[in-house]
Amino acid sequence: MSVDPSSPAPAPSDFIRDIVAADVAAGKYAKIVTRFPPEPNGYLHIGHAKSICLNFGIAREQNGQCNLRFDDTNPVKEDVEYVDSIVRDVRWLIAGWADSCLGFKPRGGKPIPVTSNGQPDSYLGPVSPDSPDAEPFFASDYFEALYAYALTLIRNGDAYVCDLSAKETDEYRGAPDQPGRDSPWRGRSVAENLALFEGMRRGDFPDGARSLRAKIDMASPNVWLRDPLLYRIRHVPHHHAGNAWCIYPLYDYAHCLSDYLEGITHSICTLEFVDHRPLYDWILEKLRLPRALPHQYEFAKLVPGYTLVSKRKLLHLVTQGIVSGWDDPRMPTLSGLRRRGVPASALRRFVTGVGVTKYDSVTDIALFEHAVRDELNGSSERRLAVLRPIKLVLTNLAPGEIVSCEATNNPQSDTPTTRPVDLTREVYIESDDFAEVPPPKYFRLKPGGEVRLKYACIIKLDEIVKDASGAITELRCTADLTTRSGQPNADRKVKGTIHWVSATTCIDAEVRLYDRLFSVAEPAREEDFLRVINPKSLETVTAKLERSLAGLAGGVCHQFERLGYFTTDPVASRPDRLVFNRTITLKDAWTAPGGK
Ligand code: ATP
Ligand code: MG
Repeated sequence: MSVDPSSPAPAPSDFIRDIVAADVAAGKYAKIVTRFPPEPNGYLHIGHAKSICLNFGIAREQNGQCNLRFDDTNPVKEDVEYVDSIVRDVRWLIAGWADSCLGFKPRGGKPIPVTSNGQPDSYLGPVSPDSPDAEPFFASDYFEALYAYALTLIRNGDAYVCDLSAKETDEYRGAPDQPGRDSPWRGRSVAENLALFEGMRRGDFPDGARSLRAKIDMASPNVWLRDPLLYRIRHVPHHHAGNAWCIYPLYDYAHCLSDYLEGITHSICTLEFVDHRPLYDWILEKLRLPRALPHQYEFAKLVPGYTLVSKRKLLHLVTQGIVSGWDDPRMPTLSGLRRRGVPASALRRFVTGVGVTKYDSVTDIALFEHAVRDELNGSSERRLAVLRPIKLVLTNLAPGEIVSCEATNNPQSDTPTTRPVDLTREVYIESDDFAEVPPPKYFRLKPGGEVRLKYACIIKLDEIVKDASGAITELRCTADLTTRSGQPNADRKVKGTIHWVSATTCIDAEVRLYDRLFSVAEPAREEDFLRVINPKSLETVTAKLERSLAGLAGGVCHQFERLGYFTTDPVASRPDRLVFNRTITLKDAWTAPGGK
């Protein structure tokens, strides 16, 4: 296994890894193959990152393969926009870590050969995901094979065409504590079922008129085994399969067979599928398939605090205009987090570090924020920026005079480098680094007080200048240039050190200050999650930045000293008009609105 320097800690073991390891030890499979199977009905979110890192992580540890497969059996809610975003997000998250495990297939829906026993067999082999001829897997590429399998089920008396409406089907199904009733169409002959199912495929019947159902047990304590639907009629085109079909397989039917066709060994999903597992196994067993069967394992979803991890609800935030889009930097989507400046390595570290369990719980968002800070601390250069400026005049410097000072770029590095910063007669400091009436133990700038301007010198506040309305217009100070680095009084100590930028050479930039999107830890529990939106989740300011940031490209992260980590917005920022996203503050300063 290759070592990834950006993810120092190997994934801790867990019950799924233990199962895989035991299967490997027993020589059960020639190669471990997992899959990440999103439905392309929305953008991926932080919860999906956990599934991606688990599936790709296992493939990586076992020298195996993880297929990216679109579970695209419900064309009504799906779209190519989602397909494209998911490919982008997965590739971003695994880049430099598990690229070599990414299972892609040759482009285009290749026909699946039908073997001598009349059953389709797998055609798929790994192809380099970087080949121009590669694309992810699509369940819809198997529609022909799935149809052939359905004919086999019908021929064996394991499936029948049912004419009950959706509502009647629900009524007949019963309830968990009450057995269901057999459909009146359950006893149809094989010949009639074959003819009707072929008619369904031809488009002989309108939407909802008929369905194909598995013939299992209407009295089963597991409602998923009460003759579940395998196919329904939907006269709609499909984003990947085009107009070829007017019947579509249901998730449970398509998923196990897609896993089988791809040679998946371990089909890892979340806990809501525990009750579906007997159906997964039933379908595969009934078909008496020639190759080793995949097995399903379930783990608890990742649900971080103060976020939603439901594509449906996230879509609602987008369509209601609560956020600017799926990639709004406040969204818990991978594209939102990336745009905000969260490194993929931090996300991987977080989702791996929280472990894999069988119990649903809410994960403290502070763990995520810690992982982000930790990554950025090592990788981001320091810069000076002032978000809410107040002007300060150093009266003993001449207008136009520039005193060049050295600032450290990367104090974490073994070989720190520096850059020049300009000390000029007029500078900006942060308005809350000054208090006209200071509280006790206030060590920043106050009347008659001294502070050090970081990387420059100690200054003393002499005079506060106000306009006619009483608003402060400038603070007049004296700079003690002998306290600069290398000067005789460089070691003189004062209690406060503040950041600043030259008012003469600084540049302006829009800075977007993000906070949590929700004001409660479990917005999913609210009847109406729109009512717990944090009204202060975005504040925009015009900040003053040191000139070295001029012309910066998009997507670059810096630590603005004493403020946090800020990344140029990859969408809105231009070299001549910078826009920064606050990726994260330096420490946790969260207070719930109205709370402590
Ligand atoms: P949603 O209900 O928001 O649409 P989903 O679970 O239906 O989400 P899928 O596209 O089906 O989304 O998810 C793809 C894979 O990601 C599935 O295997 C699913 O189990 C897993 N997954 C989804 N949400 C989470 C989560 N919060 N934590 C871990 N894995 C998740
Ligand atoms: Mg799903």
